Amino acid sequence: MGSNNMSVVATKSITNAGTFNIRAGEVGLYKIPLKEVLSDAMHGDHTHFDVIVCKLYTEDGYEGVGYTYTGGKGGEAIVSLIEKELIPYVQGKDSRRVEAHWHKMNEVLHYVGRGGILSFAISAVDIALWDIRCKRLNQPLWQVAGGHSNSTRCYAGGIDLNFSKEKLLSNIQGYLDRGFKSVKIKVGQPNMQDDIDRIRAVRELIGNDISFMIDANYSLTVPQAIKLGRAVEDVNIDWFEEPTNPDDLYGYKQISEKQNIPLSMGENLHTVYEFNHAVRHAGLSYLQPDASNIGGITGWLKVANLAYVNNMPICTHGMHELHVSLMASQPNAGNMEVHSFPIDEYTTSPLQLVDGRAVAPDLPGIGVEFDESLLKPHYVKL
Ligand SMILES: [Mg+2]
Repeated sequence: MGSNNMSVVATKSITNAGTFNIRAGEVGLYKIPLKEVLSDAMHGDHTHFDVIVCKLYTEDGYEGVGYTYTGGKGGEAIVSLIEKELIPYVQGKDSRRVEAHWHKMNEVLHYVGRGGILSFAISAVDIALWDIRCKRLNQPLWQVAGGHSNSTRCYAGGIDLNFSKEKLLSNIQGYLDRGFKSVKIKVGQPNMQDDIDRIRAVRELIGNDISFMIDANYSLTVPQAIKLGRAVEDVNIDWFEEPTNPDDLYGYKQISEKQNIPLSMGENLHTVYEFNHAVRHAGLSYLQPDASNIGGITGWLKVANLAYVNNMPICTHGMHELHVSLMASQPNAGNMEVHSFPIDEYTTSPLQLVDGRAVAPDLPGIGVEFDESLLKPHYVKL
């Protein structure tokens, strides 16, 4: 059979009568208050977070739910991109061609996107398409995405820069009481000695069997980061997250060479190309993509593979209720952040820890089903 004939056969099976096409879509914004004000070094005080939920419906009766989130800013612009550009783009198209749509959505809006809020908007749509894919297969995401395992190592990610030392320690004790075997704190105090004192106090509290990371939210200069890394070199810290500006890859490289704590970043890298540059030039030891801003599950898996071929563990930032399934699915999974924005408390299956590991849901789909009665009071009419 000649190549022309083969391509005709393939085209026929893909366009089969429109049964699998996206019929309609909708998007909503929810502003969810936090129980207390949480602060880090660069984003200031968080009083609430935004969740943007995108639903897609297929001709054959499937409903896919996707979402993204922000620290409370930018939600309306993301809703607008989804409503005005992305839902109209996927409408009438075959819901099974998930990676093709991911590629095309990036391409069609490339001129006004190349990351930024476009990546948040594409994430919500891509996650909804994956939800449909998994539901159609009647399989949970951890199986469909790779099936390596159904659980992952995880840590509690505190947003605690504004806490007094006493409150910081009681917060960490709370994590240990909940069964966490790994914790992270914020650094970037105006006086570096305060960071050093807090780091030492946390290690003293948790002992040597609990793993421990620090996160500067890109607040330090390169010399400050080198100085802090050297000052706590003996504390046994797994990684130093975002020590400086994520655009300064050369600065990262210098920090990686002049102090001994391994470096990590990812929450502020919003395209797969940015991750590729960072892997090549920044001297990183861990990648932390967030499926809410790297283009959803499709983007996250591309970064997981980038980590794999570079012999690096893949880690995460935020949305642990979704990442638990992605991390579990991958052979090179590192340590998943259990974020301080408790999106999972607004779903029907909040995150489960067993012996300090997070367990992926076995529900067909992405494993995240929002509890409408909990979400609805926070709906924002635009
Ligand atoms: Mg961080």
